Amino acid sequence: MSSDIEIARAARKRPIAEIAAKLGMGPHDFLPYGHDKAKITHEYIAGLKGRKQGRLILVTAINPTPAGEGKTTTTVGLGDALNRIGRRATVCIREASLGPNFGMKGGAAGGGMAQIVPMEEMNLHFTGDFHAITSAHNLLAAMIDNHIHWGNELRIDPRRVTWRRVMDMNDRALRQTTLGLGGPANGHPRESGFDITVASEVMAILCLADDLADLQDRLGRIVIGQTFDKEPVTARDLGADGAMTVLLRDALQPNLVQTLENNPALVHGGPFANIAHGCNSVVATRTALALSDYVVTEAGFGADLGAEKFLDIKCRLAGLSPAAVVLVATVRALKMNGGVKRGDLGAENVTALKDGCANLGRHIENLRGYGLPVVVAINHFTSDTLDEIAAVQEFCAAHDVQAVLCRHWAEGGKGAEELARIVARLAETGEAAFAPLYPDAMSLWQKIEAVCKKIYRADHVEAPPAIHEKLAEWQAAGYGHMPVCMAKTQYSFSSDPTALGAPTGFTIPLREVRLSAGAGFVVAICGEIMTMPGLPRHPAALRIGLDEHGRVEGLF
Ligand code: ADP
Ligand code: MG
Repeated sequence: MSSDIEIARAARKRPIAEIAAKLGMGPHDFLPYGHDKAKITHEYIAGLKGRKQGRLILVTAINPTPAGEGKTTTTVGLGDALNRIGRRATVCIREASLGPNFGMKGGAAGGGMAQIVPMEEMNLHFTGDFHAITSAHNLLAAMIDNHIHWGNELRIDPRRVTWRRVMDMNDRALRQTTLGLGGPANGHPRESGFDITVASEVMAILCLADDLADLQDRLGRIVIGQTFDKEPVTARDLGADGAMTVLLRDALQPNLVQTLENNPALVHGGPFANIAHGCNSVVATRTALALSDYVVTEAGFGADLGAEKFLDIKCRLAGLSPAAVVLVATVRALKMNGGVKRGDLGAENVTALKDGCANLGRHIENLRGYGLPVVVAINHFTSDTLDEIAAVQEFCAAHDVQAVLCRHWAEGGKGAEELARIVARLAETGEAAFAPLYPDAMSLWQKIEAVCKKIYRADHVEAPPAIHEKLAEWQAAGYGHMPVCMAKTQYSFSSDPTALGAPTGFTIPLREVRLSAGAGFVVAICGEIMTMPGLPRHPAALRIGLDEHGRVEGLF
C-alpha cells in the first residue's frame, strides 16, 4: 500500500464550497482559505442556535502502543462509513501540532484510506490558528514583564509568575530559561521557560469557549502568578484580555476540510491530552452537531485519560451528551498489554493477546459506568491472524459487547460499514444515559480520588501536604466546582508506563497541581509530564524536504 502522504496527495478533492454546501452552507457562511480549506463564520454559527442536534459518537481506545492505535483513522473511517449508509455525518478532530512532525510522531490526519485532506497543510501551518494562539499567549507574557519593568503597580512577585512562553517547536533547550538579562533596559531578570503551543492554557480556552464573549471572559480569568502578598494576578488585572481576544478572533472559527471520500470534517483546536483535555473545540463540535445527523469525534490517548476528560471536562462544561462510544483496539496493542515486546508484535501470540484483553475489559466497564453503549472496533492490521481476531471477538462476546473487524485503513469507509450500522443502531435506539463520573459539588481532592480509584482502579492517592494546601486554597477561592484534568502516562492505567494490562494494587502519586482558571479546570499531575518535547537523535526533519516538483516529502 502507498504511504499516507502518497494517498493524500492522490485524493480527488472537491472544492471547499461543495463540502460546505453539503452541510447546507451558502457562499457567505464560510471564509475560503484557498481551494480546500475554509473557516465557518462566527455570524453563521450564531445563527445555528436552537437547531436540532445530531448524535455525538466518541472514538476512544485501549492503552496504546507508542505508534498509536488508529483512533483518528477510525474516526475518519467511521465518518465516511456513516455517510455511505445514508447518515449525514461530520468528523471532528484536533489540529496537529507542527513541532512533533519534525520529531518522530506521525501525522494527525488519520491514515491509509481513512484520512483528512489536505494532509500536508493540516500537519503544518494550516489556517494559522496555532500562530494566533502562540501570539496571544506570548502577548500576555510580554505584558507581564512589561508591567514589572514599568513600576509593577500590581506588585507582581517576579519569582511567582507561572505564565511561561510558548512556541510550536520541539526544543528542549528552551525548557528552562533566564529572562531579562543585560541590564535595566531589558527588564527584571527572572527564571522562566517555554512550553509547546498545544500546552498553552490559551489553547485549552479556545477549545472550551462558547463564543467570542466567553473567550474573552475566560482569557481574563487566567491566573498568571501572585503578588508579593500571594494574591492571584489575572490577565484581566493586566488588561490583556481584549488584545488577546483580537488575536484569536479568526482562530475561534472552526476549519472545514474534507475526508478522502469528500465528506465534511471540522478540524479545530488541539490541546495537549495530558495537562489539558485533549479534544477539538466545543465550537466545532456544536457546529457539526447542528449541521449533521452524526458527529464522530476523537479524544487523545487511551480511554482512561482521553474519554474520561472528554466526558468529565468537555461534555460536562459544554452540556454535550454522547450517544455511543467506539472503543478502538488493535491486536498489536492487546498483545503488548499481554506482555509482548514492541519488536515482537508482528508475530502471532494468542495467549498474550488473551492476557492483554484484561485492558480492553476494564475500559469497557469504565465506559459503561458513564451510562454509554459501547462497541469495540478492531482496527485491522495486515499482520493480524484469524485466531487472534477470533480471540478478541470471543472475549468481547463474553462481556456482552459487539466487536467488529474494521478495514477502513485499507478500504476507506467501505471497510467500516458494519461498524457504522452498529453505531447507528446503538445511537438510534437511544440507550445512552450519560452521567459524568462525579458531581460538580464534590471537592477537588475527592474528584481526583474518584478518577484514580474508579477509572484507574488505584488503591490510594498520595500527595504531599503542599498539594492539599493548594487544593484547599482553590476550593476556598471559589474554584471548587471545577472538574479535574488528570496528567498521567497514556500507556498504563497506573502512573507507571510499564505496568500494562489491568494493573491492581497500586498508588497514584500526585506530584503537582495547577490551576487553569480560564480553561476552567484544575490540573493534577501524576508522574513526569513533559510540556516541551525534544527532538530524537534522528529527527524526522532529516527526511523532510521538497521533491523535484516542489511537493513535501517525508511527512507521514
Ligand atoms: P491515534 O489517533 O490513535 O494516535 P492514528 O489514527 O493517528 O492513531 O494512527 C497512527 C498511525 O498508525 C498512523 O500513521 C496510521 O497511518 C497508522 N495506522 C492506523 N491504522 C492502521 C492500520 N489498520 N494498519 C496500518 N497502519 C495503521
Ligand atoms: Mg489521533
